[in-house]
Amino acid sequence: MMKELQELVRPNIWKLKPYSSARDEYKGVAASVFLDANESPFNDTYNRYPDPLQLELKQKLERVKGVPESQIFLGNGSDEAIDLVFRVFCEPYVDNVVAIAPTYGMYEVCADINGVEYRPVLLNDSFDLSADDLLAATDEHTKVIFLCSPNNPTGNDLNRNEVVRVLENFSGIVVVDEAYSEFSQQRPFREDLSKYPNLIVLNTFSKAWGCAGIRLGMAFASKCIIDLFNKVKYPYNVNLLTQQYALDILKKWRTVNDRVGILLKERSHVIRAFSELTFCESVYPTQANFFLAKVIDADSIYSFLVQKGIIVRNRNKIVRCGNCLRITIGTPEENKALMDVLHQYSNI
Ligand code: PMP
Repeated sequence: MMKELQELVRPNIWKLKPYSSARDEYKGVAASVFLDANESPFNDTYNRYPDPLQLELKQKLERVKGVPESQIFLGNGSDEAIDLVFRVFCEPYVDNVVAIAPTYGMYEVCADINGVEYRPVLLNDSFDLSADDLLAATDEHTKVIFLCSPNNPTGNDLNRNEVVRVLENFSGIVVVDEAYSEFSQQRPFREDLSKYPNLIVLNTFSKAWGCAGIRLGMAFASKCIIDLFNKVKYPYNVNLLTQQYALDILKKWRTVNDRVGILLKERSHVIRAFSELTFCESVYPTQANFFLAKVIDADSIYSFLVQKGIIVRNRNKIVRCGNCLRITIGTPEENKALMDVLHQYSNI
């Protein structure tokens, strides 16, 4: 059973009176002269502040994602939503968060920035979680548990039943980061928002949607949690160019789907070829647009690739990822370039 939301939110945030922007104060009037926000009257289109709550974009997303507009938060990448989770729920030097390990590095960085204790709980040998281990790491000051599925850097989906056990047995907030869910066959957790009032799901435009450059991330949660995020975020956190581009890209969902299909096919080709390399010890199962591979000497392969102008992610120093490289699936040409260089490495 989730605690009352008020018990989980930092008291200063609960009682915060948010900044009210000039445009918040008039509503429903067909105005045509705007002299309220100290904007320039010139350079029409970009002279005005963007919609602080990105309503048009959220209405489109409601259809694409099947989540009501009032339960969507948009931010400067999902990294903004991750940071907001700390700023809304975690009292510095008092509260803590629990997370799986290894996982996406920003949860820990944001914890450190916000003065919040970070408690990593190791995944098992198949990179899956034990709900019992995670729950055992919590105490009365644990506000949030971070899960990531498919997980970065391991690539696998977390076991859905275990995630559900965490959701059902933890009285605080559970973040399920589904940045890579478009590449996975698993049913996304945003479809279960109405079952779990303590659930926050993260999605992004940076991966399958191919728009890392516009910096646009999404959080889906109960309306009460989204209202808290909106209260704390910068007033105009998503700029106008980003909002416009996102509206365009949403119309191209067919192309985006096709590209996901291409990447999934490429993923199986690359994995098959990579597994046959003499220095490959194993390629771990993946449901994302990348794979994690254990090799004989990750540092040396990494440096060889860098010299040849190919950059992959060396995860050798990450817990449970000794001698592992994380490799993103590129275009067919890029993947071929990778494999050519890896064959050269095998032959020296
Ligand atoms: N979550 C995960 C699991 C990620 O791997 C990343 C980016 N690598 C992010 C969130 C951040 O994405 P964004 O570009 O939306 O900030």
